[in-house]
Amino acid sequence: MGIIRPLDEHLANQIAAGEVVERPASVLKELIENAVDAGSTRVDVSAEEGGLNLLRVADDGSGIQPDDMLLAFQRHATSKISSGKDLFQIATLGFRGEALPSIAAVAKVKCVSATDDSGLGRLLEIEGGNMLANRDTNAPKGTEMVVKDLFYNTPARLKYMKTIQTELGHLSDVVYRQALARPDIAFTFSHNGNLLLRTPGNGDLRQVVAAIYGTASAKAMIAVNEESPDYTLIGLTAMPTETRANRNAVTVLVNGRYVRSQAVAQPLLQAYHTLLPLHRYPLTVLDLKMHPTLVDVNVHPAKLEVRFSKENELRAFVESAIKKALSTEAYIPSGAAVR
Ligand code: ADP
Ligand code: MG
Repeated sequence: MGIIRPLDEHLANQIAAGEVVERPASVLKELIENAVDAGSTRVDVSAEEGGLNLLRVADDGSGIQPDDMLLAFQRHATSKISSGKDLFQIATLGFRGEALPSIAAVAKVKCVSATDDSGLGRLLEIEGGNMLANRDTNAPKGTEMVVKDLFYNTPARLKYMKTIQTELGHLSDVVYRQALARPDIAFTFSHNGNLLLRTPGNGDLRQVVAAIYGTASAKAMIAVNEESPDYTLIGLTAMPTETRANRNAVTVLVNGRYVRSQAVAQPLLQAYHTLLPLHRYPLTVLDLKMHPTLVDVNVHPAKLEVRFSKENELRAFVESAIKKALSTEAYIPSGAAVR
């Protein structure tokens, strides 16, 4: 008799959770991505104790059909892709179908969702992978996810959590980046009952920047707006007088997804060249749009890294776009922008 056997589903989910759910901020990222993918115009986020006690994300998006509620929490179950072809042209933030089952394996989750304005919806409760309730309930259109007592059943992971303040910092980072990525969505974020962020959701990126970084910083930014046959680059980048000590000042979005990309960040800094003091970074929000086939987002479970198929061309495009933006404000002689 052989000794190899498939893992049971709960164990498989716990193992996947080790990859997807590193800390409260990784849960929050997945929940907000789902809210955004659902076509929401409003996303309300609240957290308690750095997200370890409670994370709540409520949206007014498409909602989950009653029959789909349980499936949403099953591994590799997704409404976002269906064929291998889809994997090479991903237009949503999620696609792996791993987040909800992973989260539900290591926390107590309540999901209330409705797909229309009838007032009738569905409630599902799962604790450590066990279903406690799945019944009809009153609910407004959209979805509310409540995640309590994260890592309550994985004490080893819980021990690694840093202070509330550190976890809150990571949570804020996630909310800020999503808010910057989608100025057309109204976000709120509160922690322990204190409202920390409210964005208007009117599509104006500068107002989102103002809500996060302050009005003065928002005013000291130059619009970037450049197009090539393959790429569009839209955003705001700081005047060289408005620099920050932290690399975090640079937000790079690819098709609306926050990513860590040297292929975009490096040419950005190169464009500033000697205008930037040593170890200073411009406050920047850049959204790079391209056909989904030109970028592979399926590189890492957290989807933070991407691979570009024409990286050199992209680097040149970004550098010249930023130089052009800086030259319109006369920081670079305009001749230098066109190489
Ligand atoms: P993925 O986002 O990769 O599809 P998830 O585990 O995050 O996987 O979610 C599983 C499915 O649950 C999604 O494909 C979607 O159909 C549904 N879902 C999750 N959150 C929401 C939400 N806020 N609004 C509508 N549908 C949702
Ligand atoms: Mg998801």
